[in-house]
Amino acid sequence: MNPIQESGLHEECGVFGIYGVPDAANLVYYGLHALQHRGQEGCGIVACGEDRVLRRIKGEGLVHEVFDEAKIASLPGQMAIGHVRYSTTGGSSIENVQPFLFHHNTGDFALAHNGNLVNSAQLRRYLEDRGSLFQSSSDSEILAHLIRKDNKERHRPRIFAIREALNMIEGAFAFLIMTQNRIYVCRDKHGLRPLSIGRLGDGYVISSETCAFDTIGAQFIRDVAPGEIITIDHHGIRSNHYSEFQHHFMCAMEYIYFSRPDSNIEGTNVHAFRKLTGRLLFEEAPADADIVVGVPDSSLSAAMGFAEASGLPYEMGLIKNKYVGRTFIQPSQAMREKGVRMKLSAVKTIVEGKRVVLIDDSVVRGTTSRRIVAMLREAGATEVHLRIASPPITSPCFYGVDMSTYDELMCAHKSLPEVKQILGVDSLAFLSQEALFKAGKREELCLACFTGDYPTYLYQRIEEANKDEKN
Ligand code: SF4
Repeated sequence: MNPIQESGLHEECGVFGIYGVPDAANLVYYGLHALQHRGQEGCGIVACGEDRVLRRIKGEGLVHEVFDEAKIASLPGQMAIGHVRYSTTGGSSIENVQPFLFHHNTGDFALAHNGNLVNSAQLRRYLEDRGSLFQSSSDSEILAHLIRKDNKERHRPRIFAIREALNMIEGAFAFLIMTQNRIYVCRDKHGLRPLSIGRLGDGYVISSETCAFDTIGAQFIRDVAPGEIITIDHHGIRSNHYSEFQHHFMCAMEYIYFSRPDSNIEGTNVHAFRKLTGRLLFEEAPADADIVVGVPDSSLSAAMGFAEASGLPYEMGLIKNKYVGRTFIQPSQAMREKGVRMKLSAVKTIVEGKRVVLIDDSVVRGTTSRRIVAMLREAGATEVHLRIASPPITSPCFYGVDMSTYDELMCAHKSLPEVKQILGVDSLAFLSQEALFKAGKREELCLACFTGDYPTYLYQRIEEANKDEKN
């Protein structure tokens, strides 16, 4: 077995924070609701009251299941951070639900993280050798141990410790760190995960996605830059950088699949990006058909773009039951298979007797695509031409996305004709990498799951490869 086949199962999450607004926890509750698509397994809020006490409530489940009015009322204060979590194998226990809260004689602090560290195993060993005791198996906690000030440094501002800690970690991250009087906002130097800052009245808002600003009536100010640490306190906001290295390798899957269509990522609206990929997909791989059907919800924008460019009618040939969670983020294969059937239906009156161009955003395991194609045929579609609005996924993700293992990735070991046959389609085409740059109007993107070309050094991967060699 390839040494890295067992790796790559991590979470995709969302973070949200408020500084300087009354009833901050209440606003974080609404912000987390807007980010619920980024994680449904658990969530939490930590608020800091006027008494400078950090109080936390967290639990497993959706935001509205974990919180009620009484719980929110028990989190007073004008400063709060929150987190929605999606976890995979072995990581869905309550200890791993964030924000983490740390009590220390130099001052309490809370921490929320979106992303994944690639050198967490090495850092955990380093810290445990020096006496650290971990509360959870989440690598997010590692940063907290790294920024814990030792006694001889207790009068040094915490920003120094944070800067040093960030320089020790490698990978994808958007961190919110809340102390008793300020919030630090940190983004990795590769720019892999999105993080934006907004204004609400006299206060500030931080969110993984800009759609949450609209939910609470906040105004977008700007994106947090790669390698930047923003400090928010009673002086306002100040910017620092923990590293001179700076790249804009935003995760392409944020545009393709994860983010909400009404979010803007580094200046590009997600719906507009997807729609343009649909147009480009038509230019690269037109199809002789009668109607265009998109897989709800994340492929609808691309389907609209394809329909517009081709002149074919865009039809609602598939209907989604909105009350079932996303297939892609169910924990097990068995659950995923069940989920697909519960979640989608083909509309017989629309697809019967029609040649359908089916637009999907990506092919990960292939399970969903295969079932949808079968469903369309059962409903009477005479031909199904599958067009994918991204390139074939051939490598796992090490940056916090449950992109499975090599074994599970359908396109990792199969040729295009083999994939076409397995999915049962009349024709199949994927979008090019160049089209993604064009759609994002940008020169840098992380495309590692499409190319195997990772923007960071992969510590665990190398360590596992070495272990495998020894065995
Ligand atoms: S490897 Fe793929 S999913 Fe992971 S960060 Fe890069 S583009 Fe996103």
